[in-house]
Amino acid sequence: MPPLDGRVAIVTGAGSGIGRATALRLAADGAAVGCVGLGAGALDEVATAIQASGGRAVAAVADVTDRNAVEAATARVTRELGSVGILVNNAGIPGEGRFIDVRFEDWQRVLDVHVTGAFHATQAVLPAMIEAGWGRIITIASEAVWLGHTSVQYATAKAALVGFTRSLARQVAGSGVLVNAVAPGPVETPMLFANEPAEIERERATVLLGRFLVPEEIAASIAFLAGPGGDAYVGQVLSPNGGTVFPG
Ligand code: NAD
Repeated sequence: MPPLDGRVAIVTGAGSGIGRATALRLAADGAAVGCVGLGAGALDEVATAIQASGGRAVAAVADVTDRNAVEAATARVTRELGSVGILVNNAGIPGEGRFIDVRFEDWQRVLDVHVTGAFHATQAVLPAMIEAGWGRIITIASEAVWLGHTSVQYATAKAALVGFTRSLARQVAGSGVLVNAVAPGPVETPMLFANEPAEIERERATVLLGRFLVPEEIAASIAFLAGPGGDAYVGQVLSPNGGTVFPG
């Protein structure tokens, strides 16, 4: 029996990069997957790939900063696939510019997408998880929580998500809902390649493996936490980072 057989997952930002690989991996592990995020074409492509492999999936467009859109997407996934037991808070955007130049709107947007997005998506699924007595909430942080980042607003948002993870974990572990974070090192995704070439090379040099990670390696950590192997993990920050930092 596949480890996630009978489970329903929502992955935010499922149209590309880590989110796409995670949606495909959770489906391969037996979950039905709600692919939620921006870009109908990309989300449809992922859902169609899951269906073509014999899995169940729904693509639902929602900006995670839009409460009504997140609730509507969650309702649709629940109606079409079943009650949601696994949430992966993955949607994210990079931060731009040196701190001294950052406009308030850009600061606010980065915090909104990462932190408020996780707030909306988590509140949308948590009541059903508590009622079922089982849930897994996995939020994507970053190695930036230990190392800092060229973007202050990005590192600030990711550090906030660690506080979110640990605090929520304390509140709901007794209800069977396990809340954890995954904090990747540099991963080959559109977000990484949006950087200047010099910054990309600088990042590559920080990885002891001598190469960037690939989205499937991050998806493996997420699938681990969602599956039976993750049953003892509560409020943890798992870091598939290739050796950039040794958090402990
Ligand atoms: P990506 O750009 O491929 O994926 C981000 C996804 O989030 C996209 O599909 C995008 O459409 C979606 N998204 C953006 N804003 C959204 C919104 N308002 N509502 C809904 N969806 C939205 O990049 P990625 O690297 O796969 O990033 C995934 C997560 O991993 C992000 O949280 C990112 O911060 C984190 N991360 C990435 C790296 C890396 O090196 N690539 C390292 C550490 C953490």
